[in-house]
Amino acid sequence: DQAQSAQQFVIAIDQGTTSTRAIIFDHSGSIVSTGQLEHEQIFPQAGWVEHNPKEIWGNTREVIGQALSKANLTRHDIVAVGITNQRETAVVWDKNTGEPVYNAIVWQDTRTQGIVDELAKDGGVERFKQKVGLPLATYFSGTKIKWILDNVDGARAKAEAGDLLFGNTDAWVLWNLTGGTDGGVHATDVTNASRTMFMDLETLSWDQEILDAFGVPASMMPAIKSSSETYGTVHGSQLLRETPVAGILGDQQAATFGQAAFDTGEAKSTYGTGSFLIFNTGEEIVHSKNGLLTTVGYKLGDAAPHYALEGSIAVTGSLIQWLRDNLGMIGSAPEVETLAKTVEDNGGVYIVPAFSGLFAPYWRPDARGAIVGLTRYVNKGHIARAALEATAFQTREVLDAVNADSGVPLAELKVDGGMVANDALMQFQADILGVDVVRPKVIETTALGAAYAAGLAVGYWKDLGECSANWGEDKRWSPQMDSAERDRQMRLWKKAVSKSMDWVD
Ligand code: ADP
Repeated sequence: DQAQSAQQFVIAIDQGTTSTRAIIFDHSGSIVSTGQLEHEQIFPQAGWVEHNPKEIWGNTREVIGQALSKANLTRHDIVAVGITNQRETAVVWDKNTGEPVYNAIVWQDTRTQGIVDELAKDGGVERFKQKVGLPLATYFSGTKIKWILDNVDGARAKAEAGDLLFGNTDAWVLWNLTGGTDGGVHATDVTNASRTMFMDLETLSWDQEILDAFGVPASMMPAIKSSSETYGTVHGSQLLRETPVAGILGDQQAATFGQAAFDTGEAKSTYGTGSFLIFNTGEEIVHSKNGLLTTVGYKLGDAAPHYALEGSIAVTGSLIQWLRDNLGMIGSAPEVETLAKTVEDNGGVYIVPAFSGLFAPYWRPDARGAIVGLTRYVNKGHIARAALEATAFQTREVLDAVNADSGVPLAELKVDGGMVANDALMQFQADILGVDVVRPKVIETTALGAAYAAGLAVGYWKDLGECSANWGEDKRWSPQMDSAERDRQMRLWKKAVSKSMDWVD
């Protein structure tokens, strides 16, 4: 039909921690089709998490094909490609062969604690925080790049000769999409760059002094671009050939953008493998006094950047995966809700999932997971419930930090991500926060944000107002718990957190 074939679309590639998706959106921001493939989680030893970058690139190509064929579309129907990605995960590859020199070291990986400690000897973990917004931590890309250069045979010499390139997975996907060894574009966007530890938040450029302190050659680093501009076009050998790649946002910034939280004071929380609350501080760089990170929210072409405060929680959804995969307590993630509903309350059990230490607002690498409050009465329903509640408690602590930093308490919280399908969790979240929790119609906000960034660059969407108009409320949860009970729960939670600390020998 004529009207249908005249309609055009934007495709977003969401290169996530557990899977890679390609999602095609129409002008109203609705999903037209999706392709998705999981990739292997490689755990070579305790604390190490890797992905195979070649598998990720192969999956990217395949999911693009899936999404196009499901919707019966071709490249002629697609006006732009947007990329969003797991941030901080570091890929280092040889620009002459296109081969990674090592697996991608994933954001959750804690192998670089020794490097952190070494660098922190001179000036503490906040050594570079004023400039880059981040404390020294294993979480960010910088120490992972250094680890590869220090530990992979021949890597440092090659890097110094200018033969190695670094990227978070956005840059890896962009380089390959635009041709790889045949002219691939080596670039990233400001939001991804702000997660490396190397970007000056004010100048939005790599800081030579920090690169030197880490021993990372500047020649490895991608060009820093805005989040919304044409970086290049897809290489002639691929399905989407000649389509502009025109948007890049790190996954959490993309979700914020997809939630249309464009303005100062707006916030969202995304509940996936981990959970991430982002609070837009507009054109102002705000340094947290309460354990939050300062990061770039987005930058559209030549316009001024928007900054944000971020509360990053390492483990939320992955605790549910752990109940499934390591304990075999449930067959699938959604079953945790059924199991949790077999009991009235948590039975006094609190789970602090400090598998990779504690991120915001504590930043305690020495913490490890704890299950406290066990009695002979406790059954697996209580454990399931405590696992879900851990997500809500951690989010409350991060929101408290945001409120303290901004001085203006948030009136409601926009949510998205895989866990927000869980009604019991969302009700408990509203109860523990004491404010409404609101879920939009499109919960694939991460992909939508990348699509918006790309579509805005090519004029598919005129302006932010057009994107905001697409946002629609799906469901709202209001607090039902009385404040005395809320306070009691938070007191017990904080006590549980204190038990998880200072555990590493
Ligand atoms: P990511 O983008 O980080 O890969 P997603 O947003 O796809 O994550 O969310 C997947 C996470 O959500 C998994 O960790 C899974 O355990 C969790 N999850 C999915 N469905 C549910 C559910 N119904 N209840 C609780 N957790 C869930």
